[in-house]
Order: sequence, then C-alpha cells, then structure tokens
Amino acid sequence: MVDISRRNIVAGSAVLAAAASCMPAYGFAPPINKPAAGFYRYKVGEIEVTVVNDGVSRMPLTDDFVSNVPKDRVNAALDALFMEKDFYAGPYNPIVVNNGKQLALIDTGTGELGFKGSNGLNGRLMLGLAAAGIDPATIDVVIASHYHGDHINGILKADNTLAFPNAEILVPEPEHKFWMDDGEMSRTTNPRVEAGFRNARRVLTPEVLKRLRTYQTGKEVIAGVTALSSPGHTPGHHSHIISSGNKTVFAQADVTHAPFLFARNPGWHIALDVDPVMAEATRRKIYDMLAADRMTVQGFHYPFPAVAHIEKTSNGYREVMVQWSPVL
Ligand SMILES: [Zn+2]
Repeated sequence: MVDISRRNIVAGSAVLAAAASCMPAYGFAPPINKPAAGFYRYKVGEIEVTVVNDGVSRMPLTDDFVSNVPKDRVNAALDALFMEKDFYAGPYNPIVVNNGKQLALIDTGTGELGFKGSNGLNGRLMLGLAAAGIDPATIDVVIASHYHGDHINGILKADNTLAFPNAEILVPEPEHKFWMDDGEMSRTTNPRVEAGFRNARRVLTPEVLKRLRTYQTGKEVIAGVTALSSPGHTPGHHSHIISSGNKTVFAQADVTHAPFLFARNPGWHIALDVDPVMAEATRRKIYDMLAADRMTVQGFHYPFPAVAHIEKTSNGYREVMVQWSPVL
C-alpha cells in the first residue's frame, strides 16, 4: 500500500532532486524572471472581446476598508480563501471590444504612472496589449465606466500625453457632471472622495477634454455596447451590456469589487463607495438579474480572465468562473 504522508513526500522529492542532479542537462535555460502578460479572447456573437490584465492593487487592509464590517471578519474571509491577511489584492481587468467597425477599450487600468508607482504590480495594460497584438494607436474609443483612478488613469502616459492618441474618450454623462462640479467637490467631507475629485481633474487635461464626449444610460455607446446606469459606487457609475445575435455579456465595472469578498457578501460596503447604501441596492438588483437570467458577467475586479456566472446563495451570491476556452 502507498503511504501518503507529508514526511514521505518530502523524502521522495529529495530522492528525485538527487537523481535529477546525476542526469545530463540538455535543455538548461535560466529562469525568465518576468511575470507573464495576461490576455484572454472570446466572442459574444460577432463581437470579439479581449480581456487584458492590468495587474492587481495590493492595499493594506485598513480598519474601515469594509466600512460596516470589523476587520477581523474580513481577515477571516481572506484566510478562508487562502489569501494573505491584512492585505487586499484587488485584480484589474480592462477589456478591448471589437465590433467589426470600431476598437473600443473599456476602462484603462492605472496607466504608466501606476506601473511605476507599484513597481509593475499594476499598470500592466500596455504589456498585455502588446502580447495580444493590439497597437494602442488603433484604439478608436476609450469608454470609461466611472472616474476612479484605476479606470481612467491609463488614459494618460506618465508624461501626461495621450496613451491612446487616436481615441475618442466616452464617459457617462452624470459621472462627468458630478466630478466636474465645484459645488460637489467643496461639499464633500470624505477624504477618499476628495482625492477622487483631484485625480479626475488631473487626468482630464485640455487634450483629453478636447476628445471627450458623454454618453447616456440606455443608449448604445458604440454598436453592440449599451450603457446601463448602476449608481452608488460613484454617482454616475455605468455598466455595459455587450450583445450580438442571441449572446449577451454584462460588463459590470464596479457593481462589486472582487467577487470573492463582495459578491459573496453583498451587504459589505467597500470604503471606495461614494454612496454605499445605493451601491448595495444596485448590487443586489443587478446580481439577482445576473443569477436569474444565468447571464455571463465580465467583472473589472474579478480574477483574470474575469468572466463568470453568478449563482444565488443563502446569504449572497457566488461567482462561478468560466472555464478557459482555447477556441473562440
Ligand atoms: Zn475600480
């Protein structure tokens, strides 16, 4: 009988290593020592979607990170997921949508500035686009879901020139109105929201504003991509319904942050929400729909490639990640 124990496995691997060292090495190669760029391609009817990973943000878990739940409970959830305690690693996944007429990037990740500031942990979109064979100069439109930095900072390079020099910038009408409103900015008492105002105004340079056009809820932003108001996370936050033929994908942006915490616990309020109560109501409404309709969801903060289905559980929802498909 085979004795499976940790001691035997450790002893076994030592024997293997000794045997390996006696063998001639025909194909020795040094470690590459560079993380792989991530992209994943699939089709929604006639529309081609390329998910391009922008990395993760690794933030220390502050006491108020989930504002209505004690830190201990968040740490217990992370531990149950085999994730490091006291840190939150939130994935970033912009998508490129090709409808046959236009090439659109939905949300940008943190950009070159983010890449430098995080030592390459995020701001990886350009590496992913290169790996996916997409030239940034061929992007016709950049569509923003909302004005948080992880969704718009990549509009600019580190020197504040345009990262997508030929792209029109399409933004939700109420989102633009909120973050550009001096009265709203002066009334805010939340330092995170205040920082959001400063950052949005930094990114929207005169060059960006020249190319900027607003879009409305319920309308097509480009052919095959319809905007849907999903407010709360920010006042003008929008999701995008990608549809072609009888296929539909719901690109949710930040209806939830990472699903392993915030879809499973829809009542948890992430500190980044401008209006957490409204964000929760939006989340429950949309997730009830996703579960009932068995709709595919593309989540900006889902683990790469960030495509999933949603099932309803006794106290929330659970993401069921779509299997990697080698065919379109
Ligand atoms: Zn976000």
